[in-house]
Amino acid sequence: NQNRVFNFSAGPSMLPLNVIEDAAANLADYEGCGQSVMEMSHRSKEFGKIIEDAEANLREIMNIPDNYKVMFLQGGGTLQFAMVPLNLLRASKKADYVVTGSWAKKAYKEAAKFGDIKVIASSEENTFTYIPEITKEDIRPDADYVYVCYNNTIYGTHYPYIPDTGDIPLVADMSSCILSEEIDVSKFGLIFAGAQKNVGPAGMTIVIMREDLLGFAGDTVPTYLDYKTHAENDSMYNTPPCFAIYIAGEVFKNIKNMGGVGALNKVNVEKAGKLYDYIDASDFYQCPIREKDRSLMNVVFVTGDADLDKKFVAEAKAEGMVNLNGHRSIGGMRASIYNAMPMEGVNKLIEFMKKFEAENK
Ligand code: PMP
Repeated sequence: NQNRVFNFSAGPSMLPLNVIEDAAANLADYEGCGQSVMEMSHRSKEFGKIIEDAEANLREIMNIPDNYKVMFLQGGGTLQFAMVPLNLLRASKKADYVVTGSWAKKAYKEAAKFGDIKVIASSEENTFTYIPEITKEDIRPDADYVYVCYNNTIYGTHYPYIPDTGDIPLVADMSSCILSEEIDVSKFGLIFAGAQKNVGPAGMTIVIMREDLLGFAGDTVPTYLDYKTHAENDSMYNTPPCFAIYIAGEVFKNIKNMGGVGALNKVNVEKAGKLYDYIDASDFYQCPIREKDRSLMNVVFVTGDADLDKKFVAEAKAEGMVNLNGHRSIGGMRASIYNAMPMEGVNKLIEFMKKFEAENK
């Protein structure tokens, strides 16, 4: 499709073109059943197969152990900021948070409504340009869980390690890195991710939760916000986000066909590596993030001149590379290069960066 732009948005973002085109071919008549997935009952045999296959394929590509539940929920990453404390503050009502950016901070503030929540480390004093090292000694021994945001979409940082929390469950927001790298799920008590970056359309949130953590929500927790409600009903307690689940399922199949998450990760390392190498070699662009903590998904850079940054974003847009502006809270540039961003898009961006540098130096 000649009209398609390279969309560097942090989310919603690009989806694999073959997935979109297959969905388009099936839009009015899904696999000969005479109706669209948008129209069919969520209790139908056809949709039953869609959601079962989606879960099975996600389990396969993420190698999710059997003692973990997979749920497809609504409410975005943001609702998880509340559901996590409502369900996991189960004994001491204490939880320890690592604040590495705006999303982690929002999660912390939400949790603070429900218990004794402590910030055990933060990189805010250095505008979130690095990931703090936390060890078991930093964690309160009676904490009910430890919370991290594994990839910080706005600042472009990513954990270079999985914090060792011992027996205390580790909760991770993986909204902007799920399926971009192989993850040992067994190291986490709960992982959640909004769909609209690496998974599918907005409207669906994946929750992967160790089974023994279910069932601790207090009596006052609304039924809908109790993970047990969704786990016991296979994400079908009420009408799920059917179309988003369908597309996500198609993306999971596509990942399998492409050789799995490991194969995608190799490409992601190469894509991000090219961009960071170019930025580091240039004296025109800078990346403020500590090298070992840099995200493969969100590459943040600046020229050091806010007006020039704006010009960059506008001129790139005119060449079919859209949404290169940094988050409205920090400005500068951000190239979000999720799984579906082809190498061709990264190459085109680097060519443009060279041209812009030559014209504006
Ligand atoms: N966590 C992270 C890491 C995010 O990047 C975002 C949104 N971009 C959110 C949470 C919030 O997600 P949502 O908009 O789905 O509520």
